[in-house]
Amino acid sequence: MNYAHSLELGLQLPQGAEVDDDARHRLVSLAEELGYDLVSVVDRPDLPATDAVTLLGWLAARTSTIRLSADIRALPLRDPAVLARSVASLDRLTSGRLDLVLGAETSADTVVAAGGPQLEKAETCGVLGEAIDVVRELWSMERGLARVDGRHYRLSGAAKAAPAHEVPVGVYGTTPDLLELAGRRADAWSARYAGTDALAASNATIDDAARQAGRAPREIRRRIIVNGTFIQAGEEHSLGLTATPTQWVTELLPLVVDHGVGTIMLDSVDTDTITRFAREVIPALRAAIDAALPYGSAGLRVRTAAALARRTPGIDYDDVPAGLAEIVEPGDRAYARYRSGYLRGGSPAVVLRVSTPEQVALALAYARRHPELPLPRRSAGHGISGRSTNEGGIVIDLSAMNQIEVLDEATRRVRIGPGARWMEVAAALHPYGWALSSGDYGGVGVGGLATAGGIGYLVRAHGLTIDHLRAVDMVLADGSLVQASETENTDLFWAVRGAGANVGIVTSFEFEADVVGPVGYAELTQDASDPARFLVDWGQFVETSPREVTSFLIMSPARGRQPAVALTRTMVDSDDPETVVARIEPLADLAALYAQQVQIVPYAAVLANASDEEPVSQGEPVSRSGLLRHITPEFAAAAARVLSSGGVHWFQIRALGGAVADTDPDATAFAHRDANFSVVVMGRQDSVVDRLWARLEPFFEGSYLSFDSSLRPDRIEQAWPTRTLARLRELKVAYDPDGVFNDNFHIPLVPSPASTGAAR
Ligand SMILES: Cc1cc2nc3c(=O)[nH]c(=O)nc-3n(C[C@H](O)[C@H](O)[C@H](O)COP(=O)(O)OP(=O)(O)OC[C@H]3O[C@@H](n4cnc5c(N)ncnc54)[C@H](O)[C@@H]3O)c2cc1C
Repeated sequence: MNYAHSLELGLQLPQGAEVDDDARHRLVSLAEELGYDLVSVVDRPDLPATDAVTLLGWLAARTSTIRLSADIRALPLRDPAVLARSVASLDRLTSGRLDLVLGAETSADTVVAAGGPQLEKAETCGVLGEAIDVVRELWSMERGLARVDGRHYRLSGAAKAAPAHEVPVGVYGTTPDLLELAGRRADAWSARYAGTDALAASNATIDDAARQAGRAPREIRRRIIVNGTFIQAGEEHSLGLTATPTQWVTELLPLVVDHGVGTIMLDSVDTDTITRFAREVIPALRAAIDAALPYGSAGLRVRTAAALARRTPGIDYDDVPAGLAEIVEPGDRAYARYRSGYLRGGSPAVVLRVSTPEQVALALAYARRHPELPLPRRSAGHGISGRSTNEGGIVIDLSAMNQIEVLDEATRRVRIGPGARWMEVAAALHPYGWALSSGDYGGVGVGGLATAGGIGYLVRAHGLTIDHLRAVDMVLADGSLVQASETENTDLFWAVRGAGANVGIVTSFEFEADVVGPVGYAELTQDASDPARFLVDWGQFVETSPREVTSFLIMSPARGRQPAVALTRTMVDSDDPETVVARIEPLADLAALYAQQVQIVPYAAVLANASDEEPVSQGEPVSRSGLLRHITPEFAAAAARVLSSGGVHWFQIRALGGAVADTDPDATAFAHRDANFSVVVMGRQDSVVDRLWARLEPFFEGSYLSFDSSLRPDRIEQAWPTRTLARLRELKVAYDPDGVFNDNFHIPLVPSPASTGAAR
């Protein structure tokens, strides 16, 4: 029986204290260097050695790619809820490098002697089964609290603690009840190799139990632990793996081909054996497997019966390319994490997670073979205009491409992946005394914001985010990988800075950061019982302030007994207290203060305002954007009427101007350089918001597409002035003639009749 698993090679570290921890570290580093897939640390709290989970954390910090398996052999001595949290934490800290195996090989007396519960032998398997329930429930990404009502373990509303990836849970042991448990519940089964007969018998029991539980036997990976030594050709080849490399291959081949072993763990502390196994056995073994099996040593993707049942009909899942970072389907535990965005709910048929430009091209090619499906791109999922999720389509998810790398300290060049979030960027640049003007919310992704504009707390002092862009790597609609900068593919580079979503998928951004020290940051809540007056006064404050001041205003109408208030968040790009106070005072004088806070803080501290919680949004955001030269009394009066209508729940104005206007409008596809204000309203219903928005529209000269969720064709003409749009259309014809990139202010090749009248 072969289960078509990919072949994995692991190193089993010894339990107990016979090797010290520095030696373990050297062995793991060697294994990582030699290309071993994983290392397993056995946990036996009854033996005198460093605690295994602690040791794994220490090893995790000293390695970067090798997977780490917590091989818990005395589960009754571990609280499964605490264990689940520790493993999930390590998995997150290592970006998804953990495996877990549960077993109970210690005797009942040993468990009791080490402080564990008194268990009958027959109860052990039940304890393991419930431990799996606890771990899976705590790792579940479904909404709500964790609950398990077992005989041995109970969770009655515990906070969940999901790992970074779907950590496989294995069962260790060869007794019939453990084999059946593995078949019924586990992702993997692990045992020390004891000959092909024993292996075949164990497999049969696991397979039967799996089928009875409605699972396919190949859902359970088979992992064996082997030890042995190498001898010279001509020396006597004894039973087991005391053999030449060729004889090892001959011995191991049937275990993989005929008995479905997917993971071979070498139990050795001998560096020569570890090295020769990787160099002389594994390559030859892979070649022999490739020759013997149609799918070779790469295997086939494992889909559980439960996951298969939740697939979306009509989707060609078999055509999904191998070699992506992760493929997430509706039946996967990770689906809850990737299905929705921050403001938009979705149920895509498949999420293609990518971690390299080549994988982006593979995912895109798949999407192009299925043009009937919607194709959003997602970096960090905070799209408003950008529909980065959908119902029943594909999502190309770039969140794993989140590296932040300083390229050159002298020129402050940094390379940032699209999946990085602005709070991470700010934190990474802070130690250098640098910052990049970005937005007001740390959870927003680089990919969406840096392809549209970037209006943040430093915008008047330092310009838009795109003004700091020096080069991009991108994948075009035809799958080609290109670079664009002021000297290469200059037309694309122009388009990326303001209309990037229309021309490709950016896989990395090269920015020039600015020197930014601590900044003044004020949050004031003021009386706005005369909203029109406050708006005009605040507008004047913005326009008369030096460019080091950027202020964002949220207006809230009176609700019940709560008065109408204006909340401003204002940044002063200065660490001098007197300057900060002098800049904020005119604002504080505008109206009575209900609350105030003024601090001098690192820019990174202001952006550290987003959580790591998974998005649980449902439905669609309803949002409109307009760009304004001045806040006139007429606009303020119209805005006050919109505010008091009750039809919008969010009314925000952001300051622009200052350094934004330093860049020529024709230099980037973001061309509305003369606006001093960006207005955003959000409501619940498109029709209601459109009706109210119509009262404000006459005042606007363009819009910032990122804040506008409307699909009305005339919104395209608001986003880009006529000349800019004409140039973008030419580029669309050249680079995306089939309109593949259509998830965000998609520019139709031909202007729609409905919109031509609105063109300016
Ligand atoms: C709470 C919140 C606060 C915000 N604050 C600000 C702010 O202060 N300033 C500001 O300017 N904007 C702000 N925005 C708007 C934000 O910049 C956009 O919504 C942006 O698209 C989000 O980027 P993302 O990568 O998180 O989004 P995603 O949802 O991942 O992507 C949105 C869209 O961007 C495009 N896109 C994403 N990645 C790429 C890529 N790698 N290559 C090409 N196109 C790509 C796609 O069209 C995609 O549909 C805010 C949004 C929210 C929800």
